[in-house]
Amino acid sequence: MVGVCTSVCKTNIDDLVRDEWVDALIKMGVMYCWYHIYRPVGPEPNPDLALTSEQQRRVRQFVVDTRVNKPIVVIDAYHDDAGNALCPAVTGFTHHIGPWGDIEPCPVIQLATETIHDARPLAEKFNAPGFLKDFRELTAGQTRGCVIMERPDLLVELAERHQARDTTARGAVIEELKRVTPRRSQYQPGQEIPERSFVYRWAKKYAFNDFGTYGRHFDPTRYRDPDRVESST
Ligand code: SF4
Repeated sequence: MVGVCTSVCKTNIDDLVRDEWVDALIKMGVMYCWYHIYRPVGPEPNPDLALTSEQQRRVRQFVVDTRVNKPIVVIDAYHDDAGNALCPAVTGFTHHIGPWGDIEPCPVIQLATETIHDARPLAEKFNAPGFLKDFRELTAGQTRGCVIMERPDLLVELAERHQARDTTARGAVIEELKRVTPRRSQYQPGQEIPERSFVYRWAKKYAFNDFGTYGRHFDPTRYRDPDRVESST
């Protein structure tokens, strides 16, 4: 079973977000495709390649339309059935296990306090008071979007509070986070694009959603719109 995952940025959006690309994948026997958006983080970020808010909505619209129009599965983990933004790590739907067994919030947040190399069950490590639980609750309280894009400062604060270790070989994650310029992510209030496909709409409503996370924690008054912060400074 073959899938193709792409990171969409300013220089490839016109190549990847188009019917011809999806048709070529189908012709090659690809069964699912997955559109991530490029996140300018890590040791060598390139902010010039980051999508604008409008371009991110273009990708979302394309995903929604392709699900109706093409015989291929399209994965997108950032929206529920009604098009409300979510973060799969914040909802607890996924966390990431790094190459050395560290349990990280997600693949691009390379910080951890827990490891798989001890006997406690994973569920206990996920849910015990500590870094991961705090990550989910603190982030869910502030935004429905991608915390590393919008609020890298929250990650620095969390890492320091819990003395989370840097799980990279680079050993510079905190410095890298401090250099990230906050920008809009998938959370664009008032611009939601709901699913058109009945199958996806049903699956997202009942099998993949925010599991009540934002209802319990999100406080819209604490949301800091990166575009507004930037333009007011
Ligand atoms: S923090 Fe951002 S990159 Fe990580 S899972 Fe959430 S939306 Fe994806």
